[in-house]
Amino acid sequence: MSTTANLTCILCPMSCNLELVLDGNRVVQVSGNSCKLGPAYAEKEFINPTRVLTTTVKIEGARVSRLPVKTDGEIPKSILFDCMRELSEVKMKAPVKNGEIILKNVAGTGVNVVATRSLT
Ligand code: SF4
Repeated sequence: MSTTANLTCILCPMSCNLELVLDGNRVVQVSGNSCKLGPAYAEKEFINPTRVLTTTVKIEGARVSRLPVKTDGEIPKSILFDCMRELSEVKMKAPVKNGEIILKNVAGTGVNVVATRSLT
């Protein structure tokens, strides 16, 4: 038996309202998309939603107390809190360069966390 679900595509400012027809764990039809990226986004978002995580970590010896960081790739949405927990333990020391790896293989994802600004 098929069911339906709705998703907003966040790939561009059009924010198309996608209607998905589902058969169990499979997306069998997508409508409401204004371009061909919508169906691929809907399938990925429904089966394994991922995000780039942006946050801050503690830093000592800089003029501010938090260093902005992000993952260098997308990670499963279901483990964002595990990643945040690991990052809450990180304490950097200035200087740090933009792009420097802050934490390798966060939460076993194979994705690294990098600085998004330099702090001296
Ligand atoms: S379906 Fe295409 S046009 Fe619509 S929001 Fe997604 S990327 Fe933008």
